[in-house]
Amino acid sequence: MDTAGEPRGGIGQALLALGDQWSLLILQRAFLKHTRRFAEWRDELAMSDSVLAGRLRELVAGGLLEPSPYRGEGRTRSEYLLTDRARELWTFLVAIWSWERTWVERPGGLPDLVHERCGARTDAELGCAACGKTPVTARDTRTERGAANTFSDVAVHRLHRRTVRERAPRDPLSYFPETLEILGDRWSTVILAAAFLRVRRFAAFQSELGVAPSILSNRLRRFSELGIFVQSDIAGKGHEYRLTDKGLAFFPVFAFLVDWAQRWHSGPPQSEITIVHTACGKPMIPFLRCLNCHEPLVRDEIHFDLTGTVRPGAATG
Ligand SMILES: [Zn+2]
Ligand SMILES: [Zn+2]
Repeated sequence: MDTAGEPRGGIGQALLALGDQWSLLILQRAFLKHTRRFAEWRDELAMSDSVLAGRLRELVAGGLLEPSPYRGEGRTRSEYLLTDRARELWTFLVAIWSWERTWVERPGGLPDLVHERCGARTDAELGCAACGKTPVTARDTRTERGAANTFSDVAVHRLHRRTVRERAPRDPLSYFPETLEILGDRWSTVILAAAFLRVRRFAAFQSELGVAPSILSNRLRRFSELGIFVQSDIAGKGHEYRLTDKGLAFFPVFAFLVDWAQRWHSGPPQSEITIVHTACGKPMIPFLRCLNCHEPLVRDEIHFDLTGTVRPGAATG
């Protein structure tokens, strides 16, 4: 699907593979509900056949889904299974869930995360597996990058020019409005990534990302409206944009994205992003820990309680 053939950092490749908000919702359903057939996604997400077919093709080309034949209605069809690399995205999806639940107001509740090992409805906190410490926040780390341009071409070869925000489903399971706004738009994602690299000034974002001024000011304004950036004046020198607490709290999502990108999408030399855990001085290996029992979360030991979108009166644990 990506035929440009130009060197691109691992993050850029990962973002291309992840696609847009439809692709993220397709993957989310595959995780949460084990959705694997065309008609199931179409009915769940109210997607048109052509949009769904296009996204499935791209997810297959990007190595996130693999087609597998089955017999249905008298003929052989394909269902789509998560690949190994896609299955590793579970931490990324849990981090998104956790951030949205904490920071984004919503009409209904999100499904509860259940840690089967301790039985609690719980939340997850980020830790550094290199040293075992939890919690680790953005402030406990520094993000470095190599000399080569990490963000070259990230947003140039977009597959889908328009986001389809308005048409995204509004049911509680799909309702991740701010995350989809950030991750469903590649410029927004890389602007946020640059902010974690401590880029703060308009001109610095522009030269770092090669983004058009109109796009940049639009996204910076939107991030300010969402309370992710706060804009402040520097006497006589224009503005700078800093991450708020809400913006900094998106760090686990960023950390898992960087970690996943680097395991599965190697870019040209010197284009990597490295998150260093300041306390141990090592490149951070992110992991999630249960806030209730403090054990590391393992994919096979968690699930989302999909009845929990209507808040249970008495939670277990
Ligand atoms: Zn550490
Ligand atoms: Zn637990």
